[in-house]
Formats: sequence, structure tokens, C-alpha cells
Amino acid sequence: GGGGAAQSDLLRARMRLSLQEHLWEFYQNRVNIPTEEQATARRAALDICAELRVFLHAKLPDMPLREMYLSGSLYDDLQVVMADHAQLMVPLILEKNLWSSIPGEDTIMNLPGFWLVRRENLEYFPRNSSYWDRCMVGGYLSPKSVLEVFDKLVAGSINWPAIGSVLDYVIRPVVPSETLTLEVQYETNRKLYVDFLPLLVMEDGTSLIAKPHRLVAERHENLWRQSFRVAETARLRALDQEDGGCRCTCLKVAKAVCKLNPALNRLNASQLTNAILLLSEKEGDWTQEALADRFLHLLRALVGHLEAGRLPCALSPKVNLFCELTEQEVDELGYTLYCALSDPAGLLRS
Ligand code: GDP
Repeated sequence: GGGGAAQSDLLRARMRLSLQEHLWEFYQNRVNIPTEEQATARRAALDICAELRVFLHAKLPDMPLREMYLSGSLYDDLQVVMADHAQLMVPLILEKNLWSSIPGEDTIMNLPGFWLVRRENLEYFPRNSSYWDRCMVGGYLSPKSVLEVFDKLVAGSINWPAIGSVLDYVIRPVVPSETLTLEVQYETNRKLYVDFLPLLVMEDGTSLIAKPHRLVAERHENLWRQSFRVAETARLRALDQEDGGCRCTCLKVAKAVCKLNPALNRLNASQLTNAILLLSEKEGDWTQEALADRFLHLLRALVGHLEAGRLPCALSPKVNLFCELTEQEVDELGYTLYCALSDPAGLLRS
């Protein structure tokens, strides 16, 4: 009778309570990075960034770039487990009248969230009127070719041992690396990976990054990836600030879980951030006491999105943030998370 129901309610309440405790303990012990460790990593990245600026100004004064800057979770207090990576943003300057962007849904690829950047006015401004014409492939600005320009510089003509010895770091380009990454050893046991990320900011404010589509196909090679990172991170933080919420904590716990569980490695910060933003539209209680409930809720929501094969970007719903996963990966992620629903604390034990 009623006694049984009450008892199972009690049991469930107790399970939730202990999940809440497990989550905070996991957060303190595994997720959160000591302030000092973050500061040292940021310092190392800044030193490298400063050296590169000097080098590029001296070596390639004509290359139309805006000032490079560092970004990523290390700078937003969203990095988890270890302070070990950052992005070096390299903004290219494009002449407005010579280049235009075409959304992926208007191309034969029909891929929202990716863009082509087309060279315009070739008849009046012939090839080489724009510095970046050297990276033009079939009439489009090729992110692959832009990356190759930086790859030649970074891997070929920068004397990293010399710069490293000045800074007292060991610096070397990671080869092979499809993203162009520097490995910086800045203390005996600490390494930092810095990715070069060429970036275009279009007239309407759209940010496009030179990060290739994961499922490599020749027809995808000219595609630039739209980045929502700045806006989605800002929205998450703003929501937390309005109600003193635990969305960022929930995100960091989820990121750490995906980082520490090999079966969940394929889920990235952007997917998790957007899943939380979508949940926030439906669910109001993000108080610190609700962390366990919201975490469970997030797992369930992810299972649902994986079942549907679709995770809409909260800032641009036509973009499917699962579009670079294979069907098999979607199935495996869904299965792992579905199993975790009955023992969520198990996710924190790996
Ligand atoms: P984390 O690396 O999992 O801690 O997550 P981040 O929030 O730092 O995101 C870094 C990832 O997002 C990298 O894979 C980047 O290539 C990608 N990304 C997309 N847009 C941006 C951007 O505007 N800035 C940075 N830093 N990374 C971006």
C-alpha cells in the first residue's frame, strides 16, 4: 500500500542526497583546478603568445592579421581536471569587397553551422589583390590552406629551442597535428598544449574558425566552422549570475566526466554547454542544492538528444551539434549514458 510508495520515495530522496554529496566531492577533488596551477599555465601561454607576436610582426609585416589573443576554458574558469590547453586565436583581416560568406545550408553540402568564404570581384581585382588569395582553392578561401601557411611558419621557420631557452620552457610543435599545436613544457611535470586557431570575423559579427569538419571528405575541405563559443559561454554565465545558479558547476562536472570516461570522450564542451542552455529554457531551479537533480536531468536530456540524433545549438537551432558524430558513436554514447542513469555516481568513479 501507501507505505511501500512512501518508502521508495524516501529511498529515492536518500539516493539523490548522496549523489549531491558525491558530485560536490568530485568537483572539489577532480574537477576544480587549483588557482596557482591555472595561473602558471596562463602565464606560460601568454609568454608564448607575446613571442609569436614579435616574431610574426618582424618576419611577415604584410600579413593582414589583427592582434593574436588567447582564449578557451582556461580563460573562462571552465577548464577542468588539469590546466593543460588553450587556443591562440589568429584573426585574419579580409577585404570586405573581395570576400563574402555563404551559409552551409545554401550550398550543396546543406550543412548549417558551416560556411564557405567566396572570392568576389575577381574581374576587377585579379588574383593577388588580396593577401589571402594565396589560400584560395576553387574560388573559395580554404581553411586548410590557411592552416598550412601557419604550419610552415610554426613548424618550419620559428626557432623554438631558442625561444624556449629564453623563456625557460621546452617548446615543440606537435607532429602530426591536424590543428597545429604547440607543446610547451613549462615545469618538470606540467605540459600545456596551445592550438593555433585562425579566425574570420565577418561583417555581421559571425565568427568562423579554421577547424576542419571531423568527418573528412573532400567536399568539406573548404568549409569554415561557425563558432558560437563566446556567445554560448556568456549566456551560461549570465544565467548563473541572475539566479546564483549552478549551471557552470554542472557543466564542469559533466566536462570532467566526459574527459575521464573514454566512452564519453566524444562529447565536447560546446555540446554540453548547449544541452544545459536548452534545459535552462525548461527548468528554473538551478540553485546549488539542485545540482544532483539538474545533473541527472542533463544526462536524461543528452540521452534524448542522442536518441533523436540531434542536438540543436541553443543560439541557432538549425545547427545540429551532433552532425560530426557517426551513427555508431551516437549509439555508443547513448548507450553509455542510458546505463549511467541507474547509477550516476558510477560516472564519478573512473
Ligand atoms: P575545453 O577545451 O573542453 O575545455 O573547452 P573550451 O570551451 O575551451 O573549447 C575549446 C574547443 O572549442 C576547441 O576545440 C576549439 O577548437 C573550439 N572552439 C570553437 N570556437 C572557439 C573559440 O571561439 N575560442 C576557442 N578558444 N575555442 C573555440
